Amino acid sequence: MARALYPGTFDPIHNGHIDIAVRASVLFDEVIVAVYDAPPKKLLFDTADRCDLARAAFEHVPNIQVVTYEGLTVECARELKADVIVRGLRNVADFEYEQQIGWANSELAPGIELCCLFCSSEYAYLSATILKEVANLGGECGAWAPAYVLDALGRKLERPIRNNAPKLYLRHEDKLVHRD
Ligand code: ADP
Repeated sequence: MARALYPGTFDPIHNGHIDIAVRASVLFDEVIVAVYDAPPKKLLFDTADRCDLARAAFEHVPNIQVVTYEGLTVECARELKADVIVRGLRNVADFEYEQQIGWANSELAPGIELCCLFCSSEYAYLSATILKEVANLGGECGAWAPAYVLDALGRKLERPIRNNAPKLYLRHEDKLVHRD
């Protein structure tokens, strides 16, 4: 049985993250989405909100659970008995970052493998930063995050968020999983 840890800031979770986690849930028996509690960067959402939004994203996927963690990712992986750390790759910059931190992590925790999945092409340019900036400037965000994430962004930014996307579905083990 293989358990994967998918760590990140998820400020907030978006369709690129969701795509990676759901694809990992097909590859591994269990996926633990680990929301980093105190990253060294300024965040829009607090930890509880980032966790709640992530939980809403995966409530229909039985082998994905969401936790928060502080400190070293490899310590979290060890404590949760994860075999693998999953990360998403969008571009060369992600690759170089993940390669470096992956080697550091394998020095710190030799038994834990790194599994990098290429992002799906439609999310190659998407980041939480782009999502927040476009949302704040009134651009269309419907293809980038589920409706409840956009609603939460609207409350946080105190402005309406444009969402003209049709309802989206994800495929999980041959079932269509409603994502909004
Ligand atoms: P971090 O702060 O560590 O970059 P993020 O919350 O931004 O964490 O992202 C968590 C993980 O999701 C990382 O592996 C990141 O590369 C991946 N990721 C971010 N955006 C996308 C995307 N558009 N498609 C696929 N993976 C992504």
